[in-house]
Amino acid sequence: MRTPDGRIGEAYWFYVRRGEILVVVGDEGPRIPSSVESMLENPVTHVMGHLDDKWVFGVDVPLDLEGAPEGHEWTPLRQLYGKVPELHWTLAGRAEQLVNWGRTHQFCGRCAAATEPSPGERARLCPACGLLSYPRLSPATITIVTRGGAEEEVLLAHGRQFPGRFYSALAGFVEPGESLEECVVREIKEEVGIDVVDVQYFGSQPWPFPHSLMIGFRARYAGGDLVLQEEEIVDAGWYRADDLPPCPRGGMSIAGWLIEAWLKEQAAKA
Ligand SMILES: [Zn+2]
Repeated sequence: MRTPDGRIGEAYWFYVRRGEILVVVGDEGPRIPSSVESMLENPVTHVMGHLDDKWVFGVDVPLDLEGAPEGHEWTPLRQLYGKVPELHWTLAGRAEQLVNWGRTHQFCGRCAAATEPSPGERARLCPACGLLSYPRLSPATITIVTRGGAEEEVLLAHGRQFPGRFYSALAGFVEPGESLEECVVREIKEEVGIDVVDVQYFGSQPWPFPHSLMIGFRARYAGGDLVLQEEEIVDAGWYRADDLPPCPRGGMSIAGWLIEAWLKEQAAKA
C-alpha cells in the first residue's frame, strides 16, 4: 500500500463536505476518487482502513468550500446509493460519520479545552482534564410486528416525518439503561399502543443520518388496540402481503430488508 519510496499508493479518498461525497464523474457513472486532489492544504484526514489492498481515507472538507475539482462533483450521501458499489456507499457513510464526529468534538464537553487526537485509538483526548471522546453512535431499534397464523398480517405505520403517503416499520432510539429488546417493546407500546412478544433479532445496519446504528427485529402481536401517538404517527394498520401500502422493499434501508424478508416468507407459504 506504500510505494517503495514510502509514498501512499492508490487509495480510496472519501471527501466529505455538507453530507455530500466527492465523486469522479464518468461515462460509467460516479466513482470514488483514487488519487489525491490538490483541493485542500493539510486537510483533517481519518484513516478508515484498507480495501482492495489500498488505503481508505475520509477527508473533512470545509463546509463553505464551493465548487469541485474538474471532472468531479458533490453528491448527497443518500443519492449516492445504487450509483456506486454498495460497499463504497457504506464506506462513504462511515467517512461522513467520522468527519462529523471530528467536527463536533473539537472541544472538551467537560472543561471546554481544545481536544487533540488520542494516540493509538480513534478518540479525541482533552489535554486539560483527560476526558476521552469516542465516535458517537446512537443505536435505534426498528421492528416489524406480525399477527395471525396461516395468513399473517404485518403492522406498518406512516410516521409524521415521512414524505408523502409512505409506511414503514416502527423505529426508535435506545434509552440509557435499556436493552434492545426492552426498547422494541417500549417503542411499540408508546407509538401504537399494543403489546408484543417473541422479539427476534433480524440484522443491523449503520445509518449515517446522522450517526445511528439501526438494529432490526421481528416481533409478534400479543394484545391491545392500535392507539397512535399523534406527535409521531399519522396512521398505522395491519396489512396482508397482497395488500401493502406504499412501503420500502429491499433497497438501501433495513426497513426495506425486513419487509422484503417477511414477503418472501409469505410467498413461500402460498
Ligand atoms: Zn477537558
